[in-house]
Amino acid sequence: MQLIFLGPPGAGKGTVATKVAVENGIPHISTGDIFRYNINNKTELGLKVKSILDSGELVPDTLTIDLVRDRLSQEDCARGFILDGFPRTIAQAEALEAFARILAVLDFAIPDEQIVERLSGRRVHKASGRTYHVVHDPPKVPGKDDVTGEELIVRSDDQVDSIRKRLSVYHEQTAPLKAFYQDKGLLTAVDATPSPDSVYRSIQQILRKAQA
Ligand code: AMP
Repeated sequence: MQLIFLGPPGAGKGTVATKVAVENGIPHISTGDIFRYNINNKTELGLKVKSILDSGELVPDTLTIDLVRDRLSQEDCARGFILDGFPRTIAQAEALEAFARILAVLDFAIPDEQIVERLSGRRVHKASGRTYHVVHDPPKVPGKDDVTGEELIVRSDDQVDSIRKRLSVYHEQTAPLKAFYQDKGLLTAVDATPSPDSVYRSIQQILRKAQA
């Protein structure tokens, strides 16, 4: 089952993808998470892409495509995978055709203003990746991780200016993928405004139909 979760940053793709991946025994592959892991570990790739992620721009296509091609060739992807945050440009989508057979593309639909509200309130526990929201899902102690008690951080690209930049990049470069996958009969829109549990249930239904 090869799936793409499409949609703007902050639409909740990652949260739902984690659940769908566990349920189906397939990996959840987030290019954003791979880049951040490399940045945190100061690898060669991390040093190369840090300033790009901070600015909210996209990492060059060739580099990103090579990274994903390599990841999808690994054994745990044999039964399928969920791509979250890839493809993000038409060039990436075209390249993907050569090394994937996509079953469905789920388009997470949500207004920009709701995204700004979600992302600017997001707090992250860096070591585990656990996320909170200052209003909708606050930690037990403000600013501290529930499990370890360690400090929570604001992702550097969750600053309001960076969020606006990421949204404009999304509308310019990634939104055209909707038509690309619509033309192939693969696109299904998902209302991403309700709670993650409710979005998850809608997706379960869509996937049951896609596999029937
Ligand atoms: P995300 O966590 O998916 O919002 O990604 C965070 C950042 O990683 C993006 O703002 C881009 O700078 C970079 N990134 C992630 N996926 C891609 C991609 N498919 N192509 C180019 N850049 C990406």
